[in-house]
Amino acid sequence: MKEACGVVGIVAPGRDVSHLCYDALYALQHRGQESAGMATFHNHQITVVKDNGLVSHVFAETTLRALAGSIIIGHTRYSTSGSANWTAAQPVYRSAGSSGFALAHNGNLTNTSPLADAAGIQVTSMLSDSDLVAELLAREVEAGASLPEALRSVLGRAQGAFSMVVLEADAVHAVRDPHGFRPLCLGRLGTVDAPEGWIVASESPALDVVGAAFIREIRPGEMITITHEGVSSVQLLEPAEGPERLCIFEFVYFARPDTYLMGHQVHTTRRRMGELLAAQSSVDADIVMGVPDSGIPAAEGYAKASGIPFGYGLVKNRYIGRTFIAPDQNMRAASVRRKLNPLRENIEGQRLVVVDDSIVRGTTTQALVGMLRDAGAKEVHLRISSPPFMWPCYYGIDTPTRDDLLAANHSIEEMRQYIGCDSLEFITLENLRLAIQLNGECCDACLTGDYPAPTPVALGRSGGRW
Ligand code: SF4
Repeated sequence: MKEACGVVGIVAPGRDVSHLCYDALYALQHRGQESAGMATFHNHQITVVKDNGLVSHVFAETTLRALAGSIIIGHTRYSTSGSANWTAAQPVYRSAGSSGFALAHNGNLTNTSPLADAAGIQVTSMLSDSDLVAELLAREVEAGASLPEALRSVLGRAQGAFSMVVLEADAVHAVRDPHGFRPLCLGRLGTVDAPEGWIVASESPALDVVGAAFIREIRPGEMITITHEGVSSVQLLEPAEGPERLCIFEFVYFARPDTYLMGHQVHTTRRRMGELLAAQSSVDADIVMGVPDSGIPAAEGYAKASGIPFGYGLVKNRYIGRTFIAPDQNMRAASVRRKLNPLRENIEGQRLVVVDDSIVRGTTTQALVGMLRDAGAKEVHLRISSPPFMWPCYYGIDTPTRDDLLAANHSIEEMRQYIGCDSLEFITLENLRLAIQLNGECCDACLTGDYPAPTPVALGRSGGRW
């Protein structure tokens, strides 16, 4: 699975917003490594700088200095919709209205074809769902609507996941979809008595890194508008029926461990996942180890609850960017070896409990288990801190089709044999919810098939909502 974008929006008169935005995007680099971009408004015009690559590759010091002004948005991208090439990098710019606008999006719309058809647009002529939203907004603005009015109209017709920041001459607007699939939070620069500006970002560490205080998460359907005068809020879109549907995998895997979501620090919830997994599926073993990074806190929790010592068994190369899709088993194994290397002295002759966050296709896990056996592991007991991944995601996460999801087509025993481990257990959905202390909130459609918002294709299943 791949993350799908991070967004930032800052208005801070008198502050060097391009450097603040750079730091915030750097803190969100894990959400997308394909491209990065920023848009500022200064001297009556919007300037957009974007390119393929990591934040540090795209923005040199001279580029940041050229991005003057006190109002900015930024984006890191992993493509789930549209092309992965330069033209689809964000922010997306349109020249509509007096100053134009720029837009950055985390999520995935599920009704792009009907939206485009209704406007007489060839959906294939759009670079991405974000490009389509920008085009629809531009048409409304050209027809005389204000940007907030256009956002209400266009996003009111949109289905699926969107946490979006939109920049115009004197404001940044930040909107979250009515289900709240993707995170978005608000922070304040300066003090309560003397605010120096405001920031919205996908995850709270982007606030920490620029010295902003976390204020709160943006509510589903809410739009926050930041101007030089301050912050205002409006319930732009009717929230969906039922509880918030933040992606449960933000807790399991996507979000940084130091991120706060729904009032919980992600690292703490991962530890609890491990503790509950140990209580649920104990095994005799010598050492518990996690697959870096998100498997580590869950492994610590497993070790604490089981009494089996925690140890490091895998070293991760932190400088690996996005890897190509390896076409055969040898190349997949090479791809795993490039990312992870075993600590032989901790592994040789040992009975291992290995905690990982998920199994999607199973090919990476199979290569990982092979690597541990090659390093001398006596037994490998795999424990997974999410339930079996059975259904594709349509809300902003890049997953394979059902045909390629291992759990959708095999029993747990068949999966164990394919992966080649001695035992395999997944945390139950009940325990996962308990670990996050959820009360019915969160999307778990890829685990249950219960999709809270319409999906773009027929799923070919009975029961469930779609
Ligand atoms: S389907 Fe799964 S990955 Fe997608 S938003 Fe829902 S919980 Fe997250």
